[in-house]
Amino acid sequence: MLKAASIDIKKTSASRLNEVDFSNLSFGKVYSDHMFIAEYKNNKWNSGQIIPYGKIQFTPAMSALHYGQAIFEGFKAYRNNKGEVRIFRPLDNHRRLNKSAVRMQMPEIPGEIFMEGLTRLIDLDRDWVPSAGGTSLYIRPVMFGSEEHVGLKPSDTYVLAIITGPVSKLYNVPLKVLVETEYTRAGPGGVGFAKAAGNYGRSLLPAKLAQKKGYHQLIWTDAQHHRYIEESGSMNVAFVINNVLVTPPAGTTILEGITRDSILTIAKDMGIKSEVRRIAIDEVMDALSENRLQEAFGAGTAAVVAPIVTIGYNGKDYALPPNTENSISGIISKELDKIWYGEEDKFSWMWKV
Ligand SMILES: *Cc1c(COP(=O)(O)O)cnc(C)c1O
Repeated sequence: MLKAASIDIKKTSASRLNEVDFSNLSFGKVYSDHMFIAEYKNNKWNSGQIIPYGKIQFTPAMSALHYGQAIFEGFKAYRNNKGEVRIFRPLDNHRRLNKSAVRMQMPEIPGEIFMEGLTRLIDLDRDWVPSAGGTSLYIRPVMFGSEEHVGLKPSDTYVLAIITGPVSKLYNVPLKVLVETEYTRAGPGGVGFAKAAGNYGRSLLPAKLAQKKGYHQLIWTDAQHHRYIEESGSMNVAFVINNVLVTPPAGTTILEGITRDSILTIAKDMGIKSEVRRIAIDEVMDALSENRLQEAFGAGTAAVVAPIVTIGYNGKDYALPPNTENSISGIISKELDKIWYGEEDKFSWMWKV
């Protein structure tokens, strides 16, 4: 199906693999030996090259720095109990990268270039894929306008880089989240559905203010009414109310998470009832006070499935019931672990390298 492109590979002469403490991984601090770089100019992408991870040079006139044509992706490769290295749903991330590119007036990257670069890179750095439960190789593609041009217009040239690094889960404690009712992350007609760099830049101040008050993250509410739940940090959110899994629809303001989609797919397969619909904060608060809210959790590649223990709203903290063995998020997490670290691949999500 995929035509092999000719990729130039320059291997490092000094691997840093033996400097990594695999028993003590965190998130986003360590990068593997190599990276994939493809360039777009004269209206087409080259097939790219794999070179040692390191610096690339640009001038301060690089257009992405001024006008924000910068998008990224995040997904993972896992080592299973047979030692195989498998990437989770890479075609879905490729599709979403192109969706972000279209919205930001950037060129789409052809599937064969993306997949060939990705799989050759993961193959070359396969020893960097950790094996302990909860760990994985995080994969971060980033694409940006690289033209040396100051003046508002789309860049003529672009760079796609794929870098990777071994990680553990982003959060290792249950989350305290604050419902945000002043700042907004995204509005209708905007770019909330895209993994565009500016969405994260604008979120840092409100997130910092929440962290100063002792919360890990915000829960964003809709821009018009500050009433409907949107998402949290780099996670989608879901609730369990009366044994039903409820999550808001991914529209123009909510990013369509692949973890979220996987959870909904597994829930359906296991006969767990789910609803994709708008959820007002009053509904969550009512359910909490009437003991109908059983669970709340975040879902995303970095955080995986992250239980929420406390919701802050209007100056008060509300405690959620403690997670049990048979919580829905726990049951679904276990299914995901089986797919990632076991051999089963019921939904054809794993791409073997
Ligand atoms: C990346 C991201 C998610 C989660 O998407 P996954 O594909 O599950 O990793 C959710 N919300 C936002 C804002 C994100 O950037």
